[in-house]
Amino acid sequence: MEYGIKGSELQEKHLETEEDLINHIESEHHIPVMRENETEKETMKRFYKQYPEAKNPETCKCPECKSKRRILMSTLN
Ligand SMILES: [Zn+2]
Repeated sequence: MEYGIKGSELQEKHLETEEDLINHIESEHHIPVMRENETEKETMKRFYKQYPEAKNPETCKCPECKSKRRILMSTLN
């Protein structure tokens, strides 16, 4: 019986970790992650509402914008 309880606790922890990971990807790397029951359109709408700075290529932290800024900087220097 105890094992059953431990198992479900672990499963809950795992889900929390996955949610944490998704939140981290969206907030720190500005990469929208589609949630369950979300369409692509809904994902983008939620994402840009939550992280309006991701709309601006100068403040967006996604790898694409970051590398573009790096290329631009090295071109200017
Ligand atoms: Zn970007």
